[in-house]
Amino acid sequence: MAAETGIAVEELVRLASNENPLGPSALAVEAGHAALLGANRYPDGDARALKKALAERHGVSTEHIVLGNGTNELIELLVRTFLGSSQTMVTAWPSFVVYRLVVQAAGREALVAPLRNERYDLSAMAALIDSRTQLVFIANPNNPTGTYVPRRLLAAFLERIPRSVIVVLDEAYAEFADAVDYPDGVKDFGHHPRLVVLRTFSKAFGLAGLRVGYGVMDPTLVHFINAVRQPYNVSVVAQAAALAALGDHAHLRASQRLVWEGKAQLTEGFKRLRLDVVASQTNFLVVKLGFAAAPVVAELRAQGILVRDLATYGMPQALRITVGTKAQNMQLLEHLGPILKRVSRA
Ligand code: PMP
Repeated sequence: MAAETGIAVEELVRLASNENPLGPSALAVEAGHAALLGANRYPDGDARALKKALAERHGVSTEHIVLGNGTNELIELLVRTFLGSSQTMVTAWPSFVVYRLVVQAAGREALVAPLRNERYDLSAMAALIDSRTQLVFIANPNNPTGTYVPRRLLAAFLERIPRSVIVVLDEAYAEFADAVDYPDGVKDFGHHPRLVVLRTFSKAFGLAGLRVGYGVMDPTLVHFINAVRQPYNVSVVAQAAALAALGDHAHLRASQRLVWEGKAQLTEGFKRLRLDVVASQTNFLVVKLGFAAAPVVAELRAQGILVRDLATYGMPQALRITVGTKAQNMQLLEHLGPILKRVSRA
């Protein structure tokens, strides 16, 4: 991208991948550096220190936790461990594309229920569940729409479906969710023997490049995943940095504040441009343009501003924009106005 536009990498306004614009926690960087000095040794395959801290954070014991090379690896491990050859996975669409990709790559069948008003339609998903269903993936909040499933609807869904089905709640953006009825999977439904809650260090904790995610679930499920996963799937540097990031409450709070204030700033700006904004519980916003979004993405790109159109998700008229710093958000809004005028007239 830098080569294409002649704009230096540091100057690019990167609002396309829902990353943390604040950077990693300074404590995490320091811990990562220190851990690098011991890089001649294999990591702790049990990741005891990190699991202990995560267990405390979620009020569970360490036997409930599995670590992964990002949540992505855990999604793949869940499919490889639990989805048998004649079984199906049920999710929604548009939602996080990796659920479908991993299931298809494993030669299994993915069934998807369309969103309704950009939200998960749990009734439509329940209707797809039958005796072949083994896995259900729910992104809460959802990527790419930013919407969420409230506690009451999720509780009713879990009650309704067969006990044999493993329900995966992917809470990659949980730290940004502030709605009173947004459920905390572990706190609200942690007793469920077939519930898996996924969290990541890639978003609020600002460590996307280090690849650390974790799952909280019943120890029986942990046992099976541990039999399938690579013993050293999370590096010494990643373990040390994640542990330090978990203890850096100031960085987490600053990241949350940046997103909440930036979301208000962007929402106001989009409304001034008369754009239809989808209410979001994440660190990104979806705007519905009413015309094709790809040319707008291309024009922004030429100015060094990276955002996504959602054509591959079946929403070709929508833009997904990650909340950046105040200055980046302002830059985006300043460029977007004139571009929209040009493109919508074309
Ligand atoms: N789940 C969702 C819903 C996501 O949007 C993302 C990041 N794009 C992930 C999981 C992947 O996160 P990780 O970096 O932990 O693999």
